[in-house]
Amino acid sequence: MNHEVAGIGMTSQRARDRLARRLESLGIRDMRVLEVMRTTPRHLFVDEALAHQAYENTALPIGFGQTISQPWIVARMTEALLAHDPAPGTVLEVGTGSGYQAAVLARLAGRVVSLERIRALQRRAREVLSSLGLHNISLRHTDGSQGWAENAPYDAILLTAAPRQVPESLLQQLSPGGQLLAPVGEEGGSQCLVRIIRTASGWTRDDLGPVSFVPLLPGEVQ
Ligand code: SAH
Repeated sequence: MNHEVAGIGMTSQRARDRLARRLESLGIRDMRVLEVMRTTPRHLFVDEALAHQAYENTALPIGFGQTISQPWIVARMTEALLAHDPAPGTVLEVGTGSGYQAAVLARLAGRVVSLERIRALQRRAREVLSSLGLHNISLRHTDGSQGWAENAPYDAILLTAAPRQVPESLLQQLSPGGQLLAPVGEEGGSQCLVRIIRTASGWTRDDLGPVSFVPLLPGEVQ
């Protein structure tokens, strides 16, 4: 790791180790997830002025009214994904944001396709992800609420912005046995993390508990 990636002080390996221990104390059990969280430099995904807070378990602003998700929720969603499918082939993420969740996924899945409606965020994420040498990620600037049919079907679809209801077209892009994980509900109101699995005869749905995400919004921002 070069100096910038390794970090110093509040962005050092010790800070990442502490975060991994905190996530474990909050109930994350999957050792692969803990290891990826322990070794992914989250400080590179936030503004330099906020880097010293990068290993606290909080969401942080990334501009344009958006946030990088709280580490616990990134770990929780990734753990839920692996619990159903320990070796996902292709994963679709809707809501690239900083690119941090995509980086975590890319180390555990064959390939990640990630969609972002705000061009400036997508560009910044692309730079960070390529500086980390993560080449199994494809980023697209688009409204992802209808998914990305070109690369479908997906073994997993992860939404990191909350729709009021899961769009039907996303469910149609799941492979048989594939899963969709999404926060569902109103902004500021109650949202629930749901997992929907595509079965031979339809879909099954589980609620995985309360969460808080920014809303899934329509349209693209240049
Ligand atoms: N996964 C991100 C979390 C970012 S917050 C991370 O690790 O940093 C959610 C992101 O979803 C925001 O960047 C927001 O612009 C984006 N978003 C909201 N609605 C969207 C849509 N319809 N299509 C694509 N991206 C969307």
